[in-house]
Amino acid sequence: MSSRTADVVICGAGIAGISTAYHLSVHAGVRQVLLVDERPPLSLTSDKSTECYRNWWPGPGPAMVQMMNRSIDILEDLAEESGNRFNLNRRGYLFATADLARIEDFKTHAREAESLGAGALRIHDGQTAGPAYQALQMEGYRDQPDGADLITDQALIRENFPYLSEDTVAVIHPRRAGWFSAQQLGMYMLEQARQHGVQLIEGHVDRVEQQGGRVEAVQARTKQGVIRIDTPHFVNAAGPFIKPVGVLLNEHLPVFSELHIKISINDRLGVFPRNAPLLIWSDELQLPWREEERAILAEDDETRYMLGTFPEGVHARPEGPQDSPIVLILWTYDTDPVQPTFPITYDSNYPEIALRGLARMLPALEPYFDRPPKPWLDGGYYTKTEENRPLVGPLSLDGAWIIGALSGFGLMASPACGELLSKHIAGADLPPYAPWFQLSRYEDPEYKKLLKSWEQTGQL
Ligand SMILES: Cc1cc2nc3c(=O)[nH]c(=O)nc-3n(C[C@H](O)[C@H](O)[C@H](O)COP(=O)(O)OP(=O)(O)OC[C@H]3O[C@@H](n4cnc5c(N)ncnc54)[C@H](O)[C@@H]3O)c2cc1C
Repeated sequence: MSSRTADVVICGAGIAGISTAYHLSVHAGVRQVLLVDERPPLSLTSDKSTECYRNWWPGPGPAMVQMMNRSIDILEDLAEESGNRFNLNRRGYLFATADLARIEDFKTHAREAESLGAGALRIHDGQTAGPAYQALQMEGYRDQPDGADLITDQALIRENFPYLSEDTVAVIHPRRAGWFSAQQLGMYMLEQARQHGVQLIEGHVDRVEQQGGRVEAVQARTKQGVIRIDTPHFVNAAGPFIKPVGVLLNEHLPVFSELHIKISINDRLGVFPRNAPLLIWSDELQLPWREEERAILAEDDETRYMLGTFPEGVHARPEGPQDSPIVLILWTYDTDPVQPTFPITYDSNYPEIALRGLARMLPALEPYFDRPPKPWLDGGYYTKTEENRPLVGPLSLDGAWIIGALSGFGLMASPACGELLSKHIAGADLPPYAPWFQLSRYEDPEYKKLLKSWEQTGQL
């Protein structure tokens, strides 16, 4: 067995571990930070995401909006200093509905987001006075509004989003939102961290030694054999495996995982709008089938569910530069908890279901029903807590820390969550949202009470 020392050992070189290493080394001045991962950096979940971000999050309390605003501040700073190497844009998210009753929900969510610090709500109904709707910019992130635009003025909807289904009655457009290249962001932070002394070891962490109630050493299996690293600090940043890594610390983490699959298609007919924001259909729906297709699907127990009602939330965005034909589509209609296993398996009907669901919002996709584009599938797990808030902070054992349960928001949240954890470890002043993300929140009677009436998780 070989041995060495480190100030901090981080298990997991996904975006969470890398962001923590970046903040510890570049901003907190911690010299010997060691990332240990059995896979190449950013290769398990962090390169499978839709790469979107938003400050549009529900309460209770402003913690989630504050943390995301801080994360987006960091993203913008990193974009400035790197010449926008990771193509941060600010096209926003666009939630659309054909149901008049949803307009009040949109307004309620927007008023709540406004009160939590996400920016002002602007109403465009053709009657209410106020600033004109500012059209989105395809590239860049500067000089764009924040808050959200609620549009019920039909002419304005058609003018700006002519591709939406004709029966769309309202859209809400949160503006401090968009997407970026997660791989480029992660590699940029990793490069900076390495220049500040961070090292990366390929290996499987299988033991954390304790002495006198605190972390003493970490053991990892590498190709060269077992290595023992003397360290006072161990960070669990193991993504979908935070639970088994928690067991190494005798810590039961209250998390579970859902499988989320993404499809990429080559839009050979050029019918998907390249200038779109992230498009989300906010109504339940039934998939469009011809009579003869319905009859065939109804015959078989394995396909009958495709005739049922599917939940809201099918979403899609263009990927790559203006002339790229790639479109990303996601729709998690099955959110049952599962055990994370790799390689992932998925419902073979998923690509057709997602495409047909998306066509409810974008009818121009209908010509694909008979000759669907070949789908590329990937995805991973949303590992999450019951209220869909992350775990960032100390664990019971002194010197043990966690950054995880990043669910479907780990790319957008990691810049601020990595900073938050580095402040915990370095003993720096913590931002006001810190207590909301600590594991110890579940011991607080007030928080337990809050959990009982928790309504929205903000998940897409
Ligand atoms: C389909 C999909 C779409 C998504 N869309 C978005 C989005 O639009 N925006 C957004 O912000 N987020 C999105 N997410 C969520 C985001 O991808 C995740 O929250 C984020 O990648 C989690 O990062 P992580 O570093 O915690 O985990 P990971 O990237 O999984 O990294 C964990 C690392 O830990 C390593 N590891 C685990 N156990 C051990 C061990 N014992 N020893 C050594 N190494 C170990 C693994 O090898 C892995 O590399 C999406 C996720 C999915 C699946």
